[in-house]
Amino acid sequence: EDAIRVGDMAHQMGVKAPEIIRVLMGLGVLATINQSLDIETAGVVATEFGYEVEKVGFSEETFLIPSETDKPEDMKPRPPVVTIMGHVDHGKTSLLDAIRSSDVTAGEAGGITQHIGAYHVQTARGEVVFLDTPGHEAFTAMRARGAKVTDIVVLVVAADDGVMEQTREAINHSKAAGVPLVVAVNKMDKEGANPDRVKRELSELGMMPEEWGGETIYAYVSAKQRQGLDELLEMILLQAEVLELKANPDKPARGHIVEAKLDKGRGSLGTLLISEGTLRQGDAFVCGLQWGKVRAMFNDQGKKIKKAGPAMPVEVQGFDGLPEAGDEFVCVADEKVARRIADERQMKQRERELAKESKVTLESFLKSK
Ligand code: GDP
Ligand code: MG
Repeated sequence: EDAIRVGDMAHQMGVKAPEIIRVLMGLGVLATINQSLDIETAGVVATEFGYEVEKVGFSEETFLIPSETDKPEDMKPRPPVVTIMGHVDHGKTSLLDAIRSSDVTAGEAGGITQHIGAYHVQTARGEVVFLDTPGHEAFTAMRARGAKVTDIVVLVVAADDGVMEQTREAINHSKAAGVPLVVAVNKMDKEGANPDRVKRELSELGMMPEEWGGETIYAYVSAKQRQGLDELLEMILLQAEVLELKANPDKPARGHIVEAKLDKGRGSLGTLLISEGTLRQGDAFVCGLQWGKVRAMFNDQGKKIKKAGPAMPVEVQGFDGLPEAGDEFVCVADEKVARRIADERQMKQRERELAKESKVTLESFLKSK
């Protein structure tokens, strides 16, 4: 687990690094000043110089900028982040497409819809951010990794089909995550549409509509005919108001990766949903096992932007390797710090993998005996 660099060790013991390297050579270890020594090796070297090694590991916390320094007056309202869930074929994709095309700023000069994993929609009443990963897997995978990126779930239920298996799953997921839910009864244009049945079935699952004296917000829409979308967005913003979503924009950015891909020309790209702070071009960051520097960033219209604040989805260029969905993204002082933290994380990751491997080999060895 713990490790120390030759250079740091020399500094701490007040000896010159080449002296340590010489001792290491005597032990059959070829090392450079930047090399990390494991605790045992460091111990042997230290004894040579009359020191003992205390087990003090590298702590990345010393390098990360603490996040709990917000004063109430620093907290500014931010848009809600919404995930659409529901049974297959109930209209999740159609609804998202319809909402997106209703964006009052969509199609503005130069803006072409880009698939980056999240959309920012400007409505007449306010902004809403949609995660373009409808589906329970993405939601649970993120949550399993400790990433809480969604504020509100929109549960799509087809009016002609009613509550189905994945409807129930979606309800359970959002309940487990403690995320409030807005119901969108879709396909209202269809002949067999029966919204009362949907309401009854959902009421039995504890989601009584407001109009029946319950607490769940319902909207009635047709993604196909683009009807009821304004009302749905209004309901989402109403729910968001209750949540009083706020974040401090005046600090180094933090957030989570919602999607990542490798682009032939542009390298590793990650879509970041900023949870707090403002991200600027040139910022250094660590993200999961990767580090980098924001070389360029783009919004969901493919436009190059120089900075982005809380709840904004941005595609970031400048990762040294491909991040993973759910990875936490944290800005740090400079690239040196970023690289150091990522190196340490990668080293620990390799150790974990090695430990796993050797365990497996031992197990199969014991089994084969
Ligand atoms: P998803 O699996 O939940 O993403 O569902 P899709 O958006 O792919 O929609 C499944 C099918 O339902 C497609 O054939 C859509 O055209 C259709 N559909 C979606 N919304 C509506 C709607 O409001 N009315 C009608 N009549 N059909 C719809
Ligand atoms: Mg779909």
